[in-house]
Amino acid sequence: MVKCSICKSEVKELFLGKLKGTIIHKPGSSKQYPICFDCQKKFPSKDKLLENMLKG
Ligand SMILES: [Zn+2]
Repeated sequence: MVKCSICKSEVKELFLGKLKGTIIHKPGSSKQYPICFDCQKKFPSKDKLLENMLKG
């Protein structure tokens, strides 16, 4: 199960491993952070997503 890096709730998978949401990278890192659709809507820019992700 994939968990959102911000709200920790489950990120639903669509098909072929695609997530209902997005994947972001921290600057300078190749690690991937899944973000759920709801958080993607709440924080429409990558900067906002990173900011909120790092807080949690
Ligand atoms: Zn979320």
